[in-house]
This record gives sequence, C-alpha cells and structure tokens, in this order.
Amino acid sequence: MMSDSTTAHSKERKSRMLIPHGTEVHDAACSTHAVLVESGLVAVLISVPGATRICVSLLGAGSVVTGDMKPAGSRWSFCAISSVSVALIPAAELRTAAYTDADLASRLRLQAGKQLAQSSIVAACNAQHVLAERTARWLTRFAHYLGPTLPLTHAFLAEMMGVRRAGVTQVLHTLQDAGIIQQDRGRIVVLDEARLQQNACACPAIIGGDESLVSPEMIDSAVSPERRGRAWIERELQARSNGIIGRDAGWIRREATLRMCRDMLSAREMVGLDA
Ligand SMILES: [Zn+2]
Repeated sequence: MMSDSTTAHSKERKSRMLIPHGTEVHDAACSTHAVLVESGLVAVLISVPGATRICVSLLGAGSVVTGDMKPAGSRWSFCAISSVSVALIPAAELRTAAYTDADLASRLRLQAGKQLAQSSIVAACNAQHVLAERTARWLTRFAHYLGPTLPLTHAFLAEMMGVRRAGVTQVLHTLQDAGIIQQDRGRIVVLDEARLQQNACACPAIIGGDESLVSPEMIDSAVSPERRGRAWIERELQARSNGIIGRDAGWIRREATLRMCRDMLSAREMVGLDA
C-alpha cells in the first residue's frame, strides 16, 4: 500500500503525452524534462547549415531523450515515426534517480553508448554504402520496431537519408517489383523480410538489446521516499538503537545518532575524503 506522499509524488511526476505520428516531441519538454518513450518509435534527426535534416538514430520503447542530447547551436529534432506515448520526467528527478539506483545509472550509460554507436554507424554508412542498400537497411530497422506495416512516405525516407526523393522512389519501385515490399498511400508494407535483409548493406540493423531499457516504474522506485536520505537515516537509527535496552526513548535516539555519526566520520577517513 502506497503512502499518501508516494501517491502525490507519482501523480506529480507522471505527466504523459501522446504524440501523433509525423509530429515532433516538443522542444520545450526536452529542455526541462527527460522524455521517456513508453511505446512507439522516435527518429533522432540533425540538420547542418544548408542541408535538410538527416536521421542519426532511432529510439524505441524504454529509451530516454534528455536535453543533454541537444548541444546548444545544433538543430536537432525528435520525430514520432508512429504514434508515440511518452512520460515526462523532470530532469532533476532523473538525476536523483540515477544517483540513487546503480542499475538505472548503468542503463542510462548503456543508452548513451548505444546512441553514439548508432550515430557513428549511420555516418559511415551514409558515406560508404549505396542508396539501394541503405534504404533496405533502414526499412529492416523500422520493421524491427513497428512490424511489417511502416507509416513512411518517400519524402520522409529521402529527407532522413539526405538524398533526392526521385532516387528513393526508384529504389522502392525496384523492391516492389521484386515482391519484397508493397507500397500504399503513405505507407510501406514489408512482404518478405528475409529478402529485404539480403538487399540491405552489412551495417547492423539494431545496436544492443533490452539491457539498456528504462521504465517509468524504475524511476519511481529509485526516487521513492523509502530510498531517500531522511528515510535511510531513520532506518539506520532504528537498527542501531535496537541493541540498547532499559533506557528512555530520547536517550536511545541520542546514543544511536552519536554512534552513527562516529561510524560515518571514520568511513570518510577510510575512503580518504578528509585527506
Ligand atoms: Zn550501411
């Protein structure tokens, strides 16, 4: 049973947004909050002066977008490829959660590494692999997250790969003529994923697995009052005063506090914090 303070805390934190397909995860949210993708797929796009934006990575359910991913001066956008549901986590709360929970901190580090790896592979792929192979590779990536029916237009595929639309249209027609995909208005259906793989470049489809994914419940648990400092001190005092019997309650707490302070001071000396 949750205490009143836990319930109020969760309500305040769990602000959620449903982002329609094709629209942006709002900038304002990214500057004050981390955006946790709960379902759907988000494309991370960057534009350099004089060019359209290109896609550098994909974020599926369990991924966290933070303001740190958008260095000042660069033009980044986060575009919902499908309908996307997100939880907004105040940035300070995510920092507290990562500080409190080693597993969560490790997952966030893995995500950052995964993002870097994805972006590096895409940069090399854009420079070295031909358009037909790159298109097939992106389609396998989208299909991994969304299943065979992909809400993608020729214009978006061309933009995200930084190429002319006519080139993408030609590649898609070739794949359709071979029976590998079926095109419809505003969507592409993958009919034969194995042959799509054969047509793709050798770049990895997906980097990493579930070990880096984060859920709102993990953050709730990490910042729950039970794991915060005040509660920890109370638990320690209780544990340390259990052995002292036959005295009044005030005296027991005073003794336990003194013992705890002494232990903490000697622990600081042992790890060299006072050096
Ligand atoms: Zn490639």
